[in-house]
Amino acid sequence: LQHHFHPDQGEDNADREVPTKDYARQYAGLVPELLEDIAEALLHDNPILGKAVQEFEEKFATAMGSAFAVGVNSGTDALILGMQQAGIGKGDEVITQANTFFATISAIRLVGATPILVDCLEESPAMDIDQVEAVVTPKTKAVIAVHMHGLVNPMSRIETYCRRQGLWLLEDCAQAHGAMDEDGVPVGTRGRFGAFSFHPSKNLGAFGDAGAILCQEFNFAEGIRQRRNLGKSGKHQQEVLGWNSKLDTLQAVVLNRRLPSLAKENMRRRTLAGRYSRALHSLEGLRIPTAAPGTTPVFHHYPVLHPKRDELGDFLLAKGVRSSLHYPVPSHLQPAAIDLGYVKGSFPHAERRAAQGLSLPMAAELHDEEVDRVIAAVQAFCQGAKA
Ligand SMILES: *Cc1c(COP(=O)(O)O)cnc(C)c1O
Repeated sequence: LQHHFHPDQGEDNADREVPTKDYARQYAGLVPELLEDIAEALLHDNPILGKAVQEFEEKFATAMGSAFAVGVNSGTDALILGMQQAGIGKGDEVITQANTFFATISAIRLVGATPILVDCLEESPAMDIDQVEAVVTPKTKAVIAVHMHGLVNPMSRIETYCRRQGLWLLEDCAQAHGAMDEDGVPVGTRGRFGAFSFHPSKNLGAFGDAGAILCQEFNFAEGIRQRRNLGKSGKHQQEVLGWNSKLDTLQAVVLNRRLPSLAKENMRRRTLAGRYSRALHSLEGLRIPTAAPGTTPVFHHYPVLHPKRDELGDFLLAKGVRSSLHYPVPSHLQPAAIDLGYVKGSFPHAERRAAQGLSLPMAAELHDEEVDRVIAAVQAFCQGAKA
């Protein structure tokens, strides 16, 4: 049994593949405590909206510097319920960035609104604010800034702009739990709401789907609490239509165990990113990710760009390193967005990231030696590619 709790102990890792993610490693040290917590919940808590959910909401809000947090079923639902509560729907336009994960676009369309896309910057995955200003119309209701890869969108200029124009600023923080913007403000707390995902792959993951909304107004939080719970405002009282999208008690139990190590794990991600960046910054053909000045990123991914991305990926795999793609098809070229009228060439920077982007292994539980093996393999490829 002990062996299962500590899969790394006493093993020589030199020949093991460097994984992109390894859930067993994440849970290895937590199993005994977690089993106790689960037993406690099974015997003494409510399976629906139990004490563990309330405890998590309070602790997550505090950890994120937010007045309120409301737990929901997923990051996608967090976006949908948040937009509905903000009164966004049919006939409205919502601006977001073409390089986002498609769930942002799905959520906008599922509330009945139209996504209006802008490109990211050339030098970073942050949204191009000049383009936002160019596409605002009288129908625009909101701007969703997406903190892609755990790199942070600079927020103060877009916030000022949205305030002046009377637009809601919303944040998709599914990849950026605990990151801070250029003014030291935690992501998810500047706008009307911040949407978070606890999909197992995220910086803070449950053992299954889960999500949360951060907001600063009591009434907004209460509205979300109704909408996630079938729209009920009392036991038998129904004022709005609602999804059924509650954070499960058992997922909250897992999240309560994992939340205390989030800050340390984010620090570890920054340390590993620094290790990558110092070793890889001057390789020919390779572009490393750079954080906007003054921001505190949390490196959900470590995305490099290389013109021969596919060859680099194959080369790494042959060397026992598993990389991944985030994301090879930009949102505006997905079949589910084709009727929006964008074409190849609409957003060149997002398209380049899709064509050239490769995420190197990045996880708090990676060992230094594993990162060094990744570095050696990337260096070998770039030096070979040059020759
Ligand atoms: C993961 C993710 C989502 C969706 O979260 P789910 O919990 O999987 O629904 C939304 N936006 C971004 C940027 C994401 O990375």
